[in-house]
Amino acid sequence: MPELPEVETVRAALAPVMTGARIVGVDIRRPDLRWPLPSSLYDDLHNKKVSFVGRRAKIIVIAVEEKAIMLHLGMSGSVRISSHKPNAKPHDHIELQVSNGQETHYITLNDPRRFGYVDSVLLDDLSAHPSMSQLGPEPVAIEDQTLQVGDIVDLPYLNQALAQSKSPIKSFLLDQRQIAGLGNIYVCEALHRAGISPKRKAYTVKGARAARLLPAIQKVLEEAILQGGTSLRDHKQPDGKLGYFVQSLLVYGRDGELCTSCKTPIKAIVQSGRTSFYCPQCQR
Ligand SMILES: [Zn+2]
Repeated sequence: MPELPEVETVRAALAPVMTGARIVGVDIRRPDLRWPLPSSLYDDLHNKKVSFVGRRAKIIVIAVEEKAIMLHLGMSGSVRISSHKPNAKPHDHIELQVSNGQETHYITLNDPRRFGYVDSVLLDDLSAHPSMSQLGPEPVAIEDQTLQVGDIVDLPYLNQALAQSKSPIKSFLLDQRQIAGLGNIYVCEALHRAGISPKRKAYTVKGARAARLLPAIQKVLEEAILQGGTSLRDHKQPDGKLGYFVQSLLVYGRDGELCTSCKTPIKAIVQSGRTSFYCPQCQR
């Protein structure tokens, strides 16, 4: 499942190709993904000019004249950008052709499992959309973002939200109403870096622990976003699939392996249906 850094990598790849360009071709190959595609989608896109490509949590927001096109990659969605008409692959559901007058690009949305979605709303109504209105602040600031993404999480906010929650810190961090866009992988990694057990109750994460947690979350995401950017430059094949890259993880998926800090075996436990990976020695 693409997590925030991968979604940000897709956004960062789409932005230079789409911003200021006109969508000269729209090919919608099925009526639905996870939900029916908006009936206005073709008209919302066709021959319209893109003003910016932003992101809120894991939702890419493409501003097309007065509309905001929302793109969620779901479990298996990916995007390809090519400078020539691509050969159609299985599960290519939407293909756009964009032109800025000098260059033409083809943007293809592929999603085998179709848990992703595309929606279209008036730009003015974006923050009231059901998938947006409940979201907490963003975990990291992105420099070239033009979308007003709402607040960035800070320590006073985090302290206050932690103090009010009796959930395990792991579940607290996955709750999109507390902080938007965090997924299982980066929550496990951030808790490891901060030396906090995933089982610890959120309201007991305070003082020095909370002060370690915030930069741990931000650094783990920023490093992954940087890595995504690097993977983008390293694999600039015209048909490159965006949305996935290899990440260097210290605990996620490594149960039984030895902790890199203390050589204790990494443990895996299930919390609210999601597996938590942690070092029982370093994380308290
Ligand atoms: Zn350890």
